Amino acid sequence: MEAALDLGDTAAGALAAVDVRSLSRQQLAAGVVRVQQLIDRFTVAHSRLVTAADQAGVWRDAGCRDMAEWITNTTRTSYGTASGLVALGETVNAAPEVAQAVAAGELSAASAATLHDAVTTAPADADLGSLIDAVKGSKPKAARQAAERWKELNVPAGETEEEREDRRYQRRSVRTAPPVDGLATTTVVLPVLQSRQFINALNAVVGKPCEADLRTTEQRLADGLILLCDAFAKGEVIGGRERPTVLLVFDADAYTGDSDTPARTANGDRIPACVARHLAENAHLQRVVQAGSRILDLGVTVRLASDDQYRALVVRDRGCRWPGCEIPAAWCEADHLTPYPAGPTTLDNLVLWCTHHHHEKHRPGVTVLGDAHTLRLVLANNTLIDCTPRPAQAAA
Ligand SMILES: [Zn+2]
Repeated sequence: MEAALDLGDTAAGALAAVDVRSLSRQQLAAGVVRVQQLIDRFTVAHSRLVTAADQAGVWRDAGCRDMAEWITNTTRTSYGTASGLVALGETVNAAPEVAQAVAAGELSAASAATLHDAVTTAPADADLGSLIDAVKGSKPKAARQAAERWKELNVPAGETEEEREDRRYQRRSVRTAPPVDGLATTTVVLPVLQSRQFINALNAVVGKPCEADLRTTEQRLADGLILLCDAFAKGEVIGGRERPTVLLVFDADAYTGDSDTPARTANGDRIPACVARHLAENAHLQRVVQAGSRILDLGVTVRLASDDQYRALVVRDRGCRWPGCEIPAAWCEADHLTPYPAGPTTLDNLVLWCTHHHHEKHRPGVTVLGDAHTLRLVLANNTLIDCTPRPAQAAA
């Protein structure tokens, strides 16, 4: 290791000493490309060290939350750069072919890093060579798209739609970068449906453009977000189950669990059947009978839990039933403990959860014990969660 670092020092010194003004145009062009390839190889080697240090728990001793934070603190690089390095290390660890492609100059380190998800979630028997072939010579954006297509074709064997959706959902995040020139960039990562809801809500809050409105769409959405946060600060955002914000079209068979045909949003996004079924519990439902493209019948709009049942739930549960969670009823969703239509829409089978705990309850591997009055959950890691009504709830 020391000898390798000394050689690296020598190389960096020698490159720095080159009299760049004496070089021809061809030499300059070749130099720029060669040094970039060297940097990429160094980056891959660096990322391998990072992964090994991560696994050795270097960051834990320093009280950091993860390896990327430790790198940020010790090398003064950005968190984004540091987490990119961690991701690249995990990529080449899972697929040494990626490191070989970078060493051969077929793939840049930036493009290699975009393969992280494809490589780390690939089934054991997946043909990683075909992934490398698909992304060779691609810039990061094209490599990311090719990796997404490859992923669609190489679904881990035995992974259910629920598990795949759960894996996606666990990557949700809101991250704010430190301000630059008085502006801070906040990056929001949401599943596609929640992302539509987010934009629809901002659009609804900001309203239609008024006369002589010169704002861009981006500025109007930003104003919507500012208005929404202001309203929350003033206590005007009260939650509740009205105001549906996304229209989903869904087959009756998929609704009852007899098929897994995905639902579609009005924008054409594909929403997995398991997610649509989960949402249906709190949505306005309308039956549409079609013959080919002709609509034969439109049913009335109904809800799975009636308004009376919902009010009774609010009185009984008062808020999320997860122990220690203080989200009030107005922000909660009704949940069928035994999913509809196998489980009835009765108060014994309905409880309120906040969005987060509703998701936790529906995660793969969670077992429901008892009914609404004796409810306990066994989580995927075998933790037992006691969700029996609190004394005040029981009295109510
Ligand atoms: Zn909760």
